[in-house]
Amino acid sequence: MLDPGAVDPRTLGPEATTSTGTTADGQLSGGIRLPRQGPGYRYNPSKRDEARYGVVEMIGAVIEASAVVERELPGSEALIGELSLPEGGPISGHGSHQAGRDVDVLFYLLGPDGEPFESKAIPLDPSGAGTEYGDLSDPGDDRPVTLDVPRTWRFVQAILEHEGAAVQRIFVVEHLRDILLEEAARVSAPEATVELFAAVTCQPGFPHDDHLHIRFFCPADDIDEGCADGAPIYPWQREALAAVDRKPLKPKPRRKGSRPKLTSNAKARAKAGPMHEDVTAFLDRRKAWVKKPHPGREYCK
Ligand SMILES: [Zn+2]
Repeated sequence: MLDPGAVDPRTLGPEATTSTGTTADGQLSGGIRLPRQGPGYRYNPSKRDEARYGVVEMIGAVIEASAVVERELPGSEALIGELSLPEGGPISGHGSHQAGRDVDVLFYLLGPDGEPFESKAIPLDPSGAGTEYGDLSDPGDDRPVTLDVPRTWRFVQAILEHEGAAVQRIFVVEHLRDILLEEAARVSAPEATVELFAAVTCQPGFPHDDHLHIRFFCPADDIDEGCADGAPIYPWQREALAAVDRKPLKPKPRRKGSRPKLTSNAKARAKAGPMHEDVTAFLDRRKAWVKKPHPGREYCK
């Protein structure tokens, strides 16, 4: 059940919302709020309540993908991170998320007993393992977690296959991308979906080892109002737009003041306070995968 009184975005048409500009310099009008909870998902209660807005197409896709996982692999919930502010625009802590077309999704996790573990933003290493450190100075409360591979892949597959909202990017660290591709092969996921996943996944500067960042293309009707996609625009996206008599708009140069405040890793680390040995060792190990790899990846810079 969605929150009592919440509008079910799946009952609304594409004209309900309009995204304008780019995800790094854009706005949102008529933004739809992701209900705080629905079948198979919860909006992360530790995130800003006003950062729950997006275009109707994206909100529908998030609700639907969570519901698919809930139906097929019940027992855990997607934890959804921030989207955009009610009217879009710069949002502190994110380089993009300005135009209602970005959403952060935390990984589904398993606890030490292999059972679903309430999702948190926990960085995962190349084996898909991480630690919930709790109090960073106290080794006594640490709990090991691992990526819940089947549910995370199922969510990704569902969101890629959702009709009416086209995924442009999934930002995820390289080693977790590999694990998800292995899972796709294991469950014999449709080839077209696997190819799409392989094409749209990239690791930007920041590692994205504790969540997926999913970005959607401008809904076709929003292009008429000034919605513009940055690179890459895949050939299949051009074709899909041509089929509805549209072409991608060229983004305008970024306006002054459109850059949000970001915190550097070093600052975040300083702010986190005292840490016990294992935490600092993990943070040092993490440096190995912070870089941008993209060996031979056609659509990654
Ligand atoms: Zn994000």
